[in-house]
Amino acid sequence: MGKCMIIGCGGVASVAIHKCVQNSEVFDEIMIASRTKSKCDALKAKLDGTSSTRISTAQLDADNVDEIIALINEFKPDVVLNLALPYQDLTIMDACLATKTHYVDTANYEPEDTAKFEYKWQWAYRDRFKEAGITALLGSGFDPGVTSVFAAYALKHEFDEINYIDILDCNAGDHGYPFATNFNPEINIREVSANGSYWEDGHWVETKPMEIKRVYNFPEIGEKDMYLLHHEEIESLALNIPGIKRIRFFMTFGQSYLTHLKCLENVGMTSIEPIEFEGKQIVPLQFLKAVLPDPSSLGPRTVGKTNIGCIFRGKKDGKDKTYYLYNVCDHQECYKEVGSQAVSYTTGVPAMIGAMMLMTGTWKGPGVFNIEEFDPDPFMDALNKWGLPWKESYDPELVD
Ligand code: NDP
Repeated sequence: MGKCMIIGCGGVASVAIHKCVQNSEVFDEIMIASRTKSKCDALKAKLDGTSSTRISTAQLDADNVDEIIALINEFKPDVVLNLALPYQDLTIMDACLATKTHYVDTANYEPEDTAKFEYKWQWAYRDRFKEAGITALLGSGFDPGVTSVFAAYALKHEFDEINYIDILDCNAGDHGYPFATNFNPEINIREVSANGSYWEDGHWVETKPMEIKRVYNFPEIGEKDMYLLHHEEIESLALNIPGIKRIRFFMTFGQSYLTHLKCLENVGMTSIEPIEFEGKQIVPLQFLKAVLPDPSSLGPRTVGKTNIGCIFRGKKDGKDKTYYLYNVCDHQECYKEVGSQAVSYTTGVPAMIGAMMLMTGTWKGPGVFNIEEFDPDPFMDALNKWGLPWKESYDPELVD
C-alpha cells in the first residue's frame, strides 16, 4: 500500500518497526533513519525477509531540516513517523511541510533547555499544514495516544457528556535493577521531576512533584502507589472533550525508584543546567543517562505487567455513569514477540497504528490534529488486532 519513513531507532521505534514489518499489507516499504546507523542496520538484518516489507536504512541528523528534506525527497514516503526525541518534533514537521508529507509522532515538542512540554509550538503549525494539504497526527503512543482514543471512544459510545477523567498508568514490571527508567532516561526524569498539575473547572491546578499520592487496586496487578503528574494529553483533552470538569493523570512508582530519584535530585544529577567539568560543558542529566542502564536492554530481565487506562465519569440519558477502559500488557510476552519490554511495546504498537491510519486514508484531513479528534473505532479495532487488546468495566474502583 505505501511507504513509511521512521525516524529514530530506539526502544519505541524498534517495536513500531517490528509491527510495520508484521503489517506488510500496509507497509510495503519502510526506511529506518536515525543518528546511529548501525542500530538501523542491525534491526534491518534481524527483520529482512520475515515479511514482504522492504527495509532500507539511512544515517540522519534530525536536528537538521535540510538533511531530513533531502532524505524525504530521496525516499518519497507517504508518512514520516517521528520516533526520535521530542526535541526533534519541529525540525521534522518543517521537513514534512517542505515536502508535503504526512507526519505522526508520540510526544509533544519540548525545548531542550526548559523542561516544559506543551502543544503550543506544534499547534502553531495548524494553518501551514492545512494550506499544504497534509496531516500531522500528534501523540500516537499509549499516553498520549491510546488514552486519548479511549476518551474519544467513551464519548462516542458510552456517554452524552464526560465530566471526569482519571488516567492511570501502572507499570508493575520488575527489571531487577535498583534504579533504571523504562524509556529514555532524560525524557523520563524530566517528566517525573517536574511539578505536577491537573485540569479543573477550566484551569490548571499546579502541585509539587509527587505531592498527590493515591493507592489503587489495578485489575490483574493489585495495589500500587501512584502519584499525580502533569501529562501532555490533559492539555488537548481539556479542549476536545466538551463538558469536562476535571482531568488527572497518575503514574505508579515503587519506593526504590523514588528514593533514588530524590537522592539524585538532591546531589544535582537531574539538573538540565550545563556545568563545567574538566574544561568541558556537560549537562548533569545527560551524564546520568550515560551511566544508567539503556532502556532497550531491560527487555530480557523485566517481568510483570503494565495496566494503563482511563476511568470516565459523566452522564448518559440523564443518569450518572462510570466506565473504565484499560489495557494489560505482559513484559515477557512482549519480549518474546519483538524483543522489547512492555513500555516500549505499548508505545510502538499505537505508533504503527497511527501511521497506518494515515497510510490507508482511514484518517485524513489537512491540518494538525490530536489523536482524539479522529474517529476512534478503527483505531480501537486495530489495537485488538495488533497486540494491545482493551478491556472495559462499568463498576471500577474510583480514585478519590
Ligand atoms: P530512545 O532514546 O530509546 O530512542 C530515541 C532514538 O532517537 C534513538 O535511536 C536516537 O538515536 C534517535 N535520535 C535522537 N536524537 C536524534 C537526532 N537528532 N537525529 C536522529 N535520530 C535521533 O527513546 P524511546 O524510544 O524510549 O522514545 C522515543 C519517543 O517516544 C520519545 O519522544 C518519547 O518521549 C516517546 N514516548 C512516548 C510515549 C507515549 O506513550 N506517548 C511513551 C514512551 C516514550 P541514537 O540511537 O543515536 O541514540
